[in-house]
Amino acid sequence: MMGFDLIFGPSVERGPKNRRIYLTFDDGPNERATPAILETLAGSRVPAAFFMVGDHVQRFPRLARHVVKEGHMVGNHTHNHVKLHFVGRGRIRDQLEMAHRAIECAAGRTPRAFRAPHGYRSPFLRSAAQDLGYTVFGWTFGVFDTARPGVEEIRRRVRKRLRPGAIVLLHDGDGYDPEGDRMQTADALPGIIEDARSAGYEFAPLSELLDNRS
Ligand SMILES: [Zn+2]
Repeated sequence: MMGFDLIFGPSVERGPKNRRIYLTFDDGPNERATPAILETLAGSRVPAAFFMVGDHVQRFPRLARHVVKEGHMVGNHTHNHVKLHFVGRGRIRDQLEMAHRAIECAAGRTPRAFRAPHGYRSPFLRSAAQDLGYTVFGWTFGVFDTARPGVEEIRRRVRKRLRPGAIVLLHDGDGYDPEGDRMQTADALPGIIEDARSAGYEFAPLSELLDNRS
């Protein structure tokens, strides 16, 4: 399902309203949370998408490569987690291109998706994203896991808000602090997966919602 805005352009905020749901992780990679999350995903055979901060990718290139090796989708989340609504055309292009190159170089995979930090889009984003061949993603719901409300609370919030086609926003890193602690999210993940499956949902790869899948 596309959100569309004449100024900001289209963004994908939800999938078709069936039992398929999509896990996404922003602001990584992170030395502790990303490997823990990858292990849970592998053990449960769940696909996910990781929208990475280019600067963190340069710091932890091995982790970015690990995400790709595990078969997950990688997306661009700017180079320095910049709020795009205050930023001019040239800086936006730089932020997207720097992260694009960092991800390509570290992970060996060309990202095809972009998500704006805090969801703040800008009129200049559209053409920069188009030029890089990106599908712009939003999300159906987040659970404020960055405020670290507790493992059980994160799990409970996801369970309450799940709905058909949902793109779930979680965080495996801190957009500004490469050492930020996201272990509550990592620790909540096994319960989130268990709850969703027992409610009849099926985890699907976000790549199936790309504009042009070829
Ligand atoms: Zn972010």
